[in-house]
Amino acid sequence: MRRVTRPVKAGNITIGGTAPVSVQSMTKTDTRDTAATIAQIKKLQSAGCEIIRCAVLDEEAAGKIKQIKDGIKIPLVADIHFNSKLAVLAIEAGADKIRINPGNIGSDLKVKEIIAAAKSARIPIRIGVNAGSLEKYSGKQRKDSAAETAKKMVKKAVSFIRFFERNKFEDIVLSLKASDTLATIEAYSRMAKECDYPFHVGVTEAGTISGGTIKSSVGIGVLLHSGIGDTIRVSLAGDPLEEIRVGYGILRTLKLREKGVDLIVCPTCGRCGVNLFALAEKVEKLVAGLEKPVRIAVMGCVVNGPGEASGADLGIACGKGMGMLFKNGKVIKRVREDKLVEELIKELKKL
Ligand code: SF4
Repeated sequence: MRRVTRPVKAGNITIGGTAPVSVQSMTKTDTRDTAATIAQIKKLQSAGCEIIRCAVLDEEAAGKIKQIKDGIKIPLVADIHFNSKLAVLAIEAGADKIRINPGNIGSDLKVKEIIAAAKSARIPIRIGVNAGSLEKYSGKQRKDSAAETAKKMVKKAVSFIRFFERNKFEDIVLSLKASDTLATIEAYSRMAKECDYPFHVGVTEAGTISGGTIKSSVGIGVLLHSGIGDTIRVSLAGDPLEEIRVGYGILRTLKLREKGVDLIVCPTCGRCGVNLFALAEKVEKLVAGLEKPVRIAVMGCVVNGPGEASGADLGIACGKGMGMLFKNGKVIKRVREDKLVEELIKELKKL
């Protein structure tokens, strides 16, 4: 059961309510370099990115938001730290949403200025509480336990929310990210009992593409599976396109979004009579970016091959130097190993 949340709109995308869990990313370019930023966002939006966030580090960057927005199709979130003026400028330049940590804006008065600007532009604010910005543990321990960190994050988030509510602003999305996956899970789970604002879910500073994918998939996956999460961002130290690929992979695995190819590949063993890794890699490359939800199985032998291949929309169950091609549960032809991918793609196009 998905947690019931109030819907919040960022541009043309709804976060929360009954809207599907959206996938977002953040640009890694200098926002002041509009050509590079637009080019990166265009690649991300073609890969399925639904909301993009840009770091606004000075007035020049805030001023470029309009130009960037003119070159892209997805809602743009301005990421602001330390400076209320930048947030107000970004809102005036047309940002569809603002992300702030109210704790580092300087004073209640400055946060109120941002609230007033967002209110008049009718855009939401994401309140982002990060474990890294909490006061460090003052006792003897070197660092807090995951549960302690989570408790502190929730306490902070609740106090920010109450402040926003006292100022009559409820167009809020909330995030409580930590680089510790358990602290992240614990913080969101606790916070889910405190409010019905939609959650932006992610494990922050998760790591490199391989390590970060594991942490994010576990953290985001556990939360989504317990019904928590309305929009997700996979934070990876690498190409942001990977963030989108992993984000959809998590949603597809949990059957929350069906977009794209679900590729089933056996790990191979001594029974495999073809170069299955090469076959699977070729298929993976050829179907990357495909939006249609299709299940494809690439299997190494007849032990589990026919079962998986016949349960998929398209499948290959290999024998020695050849494979049987399955479509919608039936064998449609026997194909030589060197022609298998070509024939599979031909059938995929017909689908
Ligand atoms: S399908 Fe065949 S080759 Fe692949 S892992 Fe199973 S037994 Fe091994």
